[in-house]
Parts: sequence; C-alpha cells; structure tokens
Amino acid sequence: MNIILFGPPGAGKGTQATKLVADRGMVQLSTGDMLRSAIANKTELGLKAKAIMDAGELVSDDIMIGMISERMSHDDCKAGVILDGFPRTVAQAEALDGMFAERGITLDHVIEIAVDEAALFDRIENRAKETGGARSDDNADVLRQRLSVYHENTAPVLPYYADKGLLSRVDGMGDISSVSHHIEQILDS
Ligand code: ADP
Repeated sequence: MNIILFGPPGAGKGTQATKLVADRGMVQLSTGDMLRSAIANKTELGLKAKAIMDAGELVSDDIMIGMISERMSHDDCKAGVILDGFPRTVAQAEALDGMFAERGITLDHVIEIAVDEAALFDRIENRAKETGGARSDDNADVLRQRLSVYHENTAPVLPYYADKGLLSRVDGMGDISSVSHHIEQILDS
C-alpha cells in the first residue's frame, strides 16, 4: 500500500508516519527529513536549501521531484511508502503520478490531517522547546509564512486528489492515538 499524509506544517504527519512504519512496516519518505539531513551533511543542496527552508519558502519542484524519484527507486520502497511532505505543489503531484505509473504501482490513499491553525502556533512552540530549537524554522514568524505558502501552493493539491477519489480527511485535533485510529480505519477500509 502506498499513501500520502497531507496537512499543514505541524499537523502531525511525521508522528503518524512513524506509527505506521512501526505498525505496518511501511517506509516513510519525509522530504523535510531528507533536506535536513542534506543540511547536516553540508552538501551543496543542503547549503542551498537551508536559506529557503528558514524563510518558510518551498525548495524548487525540480529538486524535490528528483529527490523523491531517486529514493523511490530503492528496493525497500516495495514494502509500501508513506509520503510525508510531498507532494507540496500540483506540479509535484503530477510528477508523482508519472513515477507511480513508471514503476507499475498505485497510490491507494491520500489522508488529509485537518487542524485548527491557531493551535499550530502552540504546537510549533512546544516542538521548539522539546527539541531545544533543533529546527530553525520552528518559530511563529516562519510558521506564518509556511502557512501562507501552504494555502497558496499546497492546498490546491487537495482537489487534485479529491477528483481522483483518493482523498480522505481525519480530524487532527484529537490525541495521537485517536488520529492514528482513524487513519488505520481508512487504510483497512
Ligand atoms: P513540516 O512537516 O513542519 O511541514 P517539513 O519538515 O515537511 O515541514 O519541511 C520543512 C521545509 O522543507 C519546508 O518548509 C520546505 O521549505 C522544505 N520542503 C519539504 N518538502 C518539500 C517539498 N515537497 N517541496 C518543496 N519544499 C519542501
């Protein structure tokens, strides 16, 4: 099974993806984590991406599509993938369709984790405290910009998948286990 977890920054995509990896042996493909690892390794891409991420903007479609395409060519992805943070634009969604078709695999579910945006500011503030500020984009100013980019560029991906009949929505404001229960129900339906 191959799925996309969708939602604004701080919706809990990573948390839910980690649970699915543990429970179902799927592989998590988090573009945010891939970029942060490029930054930590001081690669050329990492150096370029850091400024973009810290400004709350999107890294270019070409780079992100290349990154996911390369990662999906690894054998472990045959166990099924959870895409977390990709696609973030309609162009990325279209490119993803091409990658699935090329590999003869199907996308089974797109799950939108819906949240109250005012609550995201508290969540990001908490994450910054818990991680000692490990993510330089975890602050209110950058979050405001990330949310604005989400509405402008990423939210239009939702009707793209709704038209294909692939979109489901879960309430992301419950506790972690109730959100994951709803996701499990969708995957088992
Ligand atoms: P969150 O889960 O909080 O939304 P991520 O860790 O997924 O954040 O991503 C952090 C940053 O990495 C984004 O704000 C963006 O700059 C960059 N990024 C991650 N995925 C993509 C993507 N698919 N396209 C463009 N930029 C991306």
